[in-house]
Amino acid sequence: MKYESTRGNSPAVFSSEAIKMGIAPDGGLFVPLEKVIFTDGQLQSLTSLSYTQRAVSILKSFLTDFTLEELTRCVEAAYGGDKFDAPGVAPVKSLTPDTAVLELWHGPTCAFKDMALQILPQFLVRAMQKTGEISEIVILVATSGDTGKAALDGFADVPGTSIIVFFPEQGVSEVQRLQMVTQKGKNVHVIGVRGNFDDAQSGVKQVFGDKDLSLVLAEKGYRLSSANSINWGRLVPQIVYYFSAYADLVKAGTIQAGEKINFVVPTGNFGNILAGFYAKAMGLPVNRLICAANANNVLTDFIQTGHYDRNRKFFKTLSPSMDILISSNLERLLYELTGRQADKINRWMTELKTRGAYTVDQDTREKVRAHFWSDFADDRETLDTIKETWEQHRYLLDTHTAVAVRVLGKYRQATGDTTYSVVASTASPFKFNGSVAKALLGDEGIAGKSEFELLNDLSAFTGWPIPKGLRNLDKRPVLHKGVTDKDKIDEAVRNILLRP
Ligand SMILES: *Cc1c(COP(=O)(O)O)cnc(C)c1O
Repeated sequence: MKYESTRGNSPAVFSSEAIKMGIAPDGGLFVPLEKVIFTDGQLQSLTSLSYTQRAVSILKSFLTDFTLEELTRCVEAAYGGDKFDAPGVAPVKSLTPDTAVLELWHGPTCAFKDMALQILPQFLVRAMQKTGEISEIVILVATSGDTGKAALDGFADVPGTSIIVFFPEQGVSEVQRLQMVTQKGKNVHVIGVRGNFDDAQSGVKQVFGDKDLSLVLAEKGYRLSSANSINWGRLVPQIVYYFSAYADLVKAGTIQAGEKINFVVPTGNFGNILAGFYAKAMGLPVNRLICAANANNVLTDFIQTGHYDRNRKFFKTLSPSMDILISSNLERLLYELTGRQADKINRWMTELKTRGAYTVDQDTREKVRAHFWSDFADDRETLDTIKETWEQHRYLLDTHTAVAVRVLGKYRQATGDTTYSVVASTASPFKFNGSVAKALLGDEGIAGKSEFELLNDLSAFTGWPIPKGLRNLDKRPVLHKGVTDKDKIDEAVRNILLRP
C-alpha cells in the first residue's frame, strides 16, 4: 500500500519512504491511500494475543512493504523484554463501573510518547535499508517536553542516525528538563530555546523547509527527518493500543464484543486521538472520540464551531504537553473527512499560516462533530480532579489524564451518554509530581520542597512506586547545556552538523 500527501503535490510512496521522509516534499502529511478494514473476526481473534502480537497484526495491514519477520523484530525490540514495566505493555485499569483508564506510560520515559518512539527508530533503520539510503538520518525534534526525552531514548546510539532536540527552556517541568539534558548517547544533541513550544516547532519547520541547507547537508552525507507526530511511523503504532484496550475489555467481559465505547484523549498535537480516529475508520466499535483540552482550547473551539483560530493568548498550564496552539495532525483528519480534497487542505493550511485562522465548510464541520466531542478543563479543575479521583477511587492521575477525566464528566453531563468510556492516560503521575503533590498535599504540603523530594513524598503518601526512569534523576550528570534564541534554530543545526 502506498501513501499520498495531504497537499496533493508529491508522488505516492511506500511506507518505508514515507517514514524516512517524515513530512512530504510538498509540505503535506502522508496518509494511506487505501482504507484498511479490520473484520469482527479479526477483532475477536485479538483477544487471545499478546500486545506484541496484536501490534504485528495491525501494523502489517499498513506497512505492507515490511515483511512479517521485520515487523515482528521491530515490535519485539520496542515492546518486548522488560522495556515496559507492565505486563501487557498498555494495561487497562477499571476506575468506575462505566470508566476505565488505558495506561500508556509504562515505557522507559514514563509518558505515552514511548508507545510510538520506541518503535519509530526500528522502522526507520529498516526503511533506510529498504530504500538504499546511505546518508546519515538526522532526526530534528521540537518538543513540548515528553516527545524530546522519548525520542532521545528511542534513537540513542541507533546506527546511521543522530538526533537533535529543541525544547522551550521555560516550558517544561524540572523532571522533563533533567530527563533530556542527562541523556547519554554518542549521537544525541539537546538544546533549550528561549521561547515557547510553538516557537521551537516553527523554527524546526523552517529548517525542514530550507532547500539550501538541505543541499549543503546532503553534500556532507546528512538527510533530515522528523520524529514529531507528523511522521506516519509514529502515528501507526498508536492505532494498536485502541484495539488492544478494546480486546482487553472484551476478554475481561467488561464489554460485549461489538459494543461501542467512547475514548477520551488528552490532546495537544492531535496525534493520539487521530490514531483513535483511524482505529474507528478500520471498524473498531467506537461511539465518540472525546477531545480533552486545557486552557489552550483551540481544538475545543474548532470541534464546536468549525473555526480554527490560533490568534489567542497562550497559557502555560499544569498540563504542558498539551500547551499547543497549532495541532499539526488535524490536517490529516481534514483530508480524510473532506474525501481527500487536497485543494481545500492547501487553502486552509495557507490561511492558517498567513492569518492564523481558517473555517471549514459546513459538511466537514458536521463530519467532525459526528466523530468528535470536545471540552476543556482549567488548572483548578485539573488539581481538583486529581484530588477527588485519589480520594474516591485511590487512583493517581497525572495532570494531563486529569484533564481528560474532568472533560469526560462534562461530556456525560452535557449529553447524558452512558456509553462505557476509556480514558487514555498519557503520563505517569510521577512525571508531573510537582502538580500532583500539590493537588494531594496542598500548598503547605509542598512548600520549600524540590521536585525530587516530592517524588519521594508522593510515593510515601500513595504507596505507588517511583518508576525506574525517574529514580535518581537529580544525581545524573548534565551532559547538554546549549541554549539558543528562537530565531536561531537553523544556526544551531548548522553548528552541530557543519562545524569542521
Ligand atoms: C504528547 C502528550 C499529549 C498530547 O498528545 P498529542 O498526540 O500531541 O495530541 C498529552 N499528554 C501527554 C502526557 C503527552 O506527552
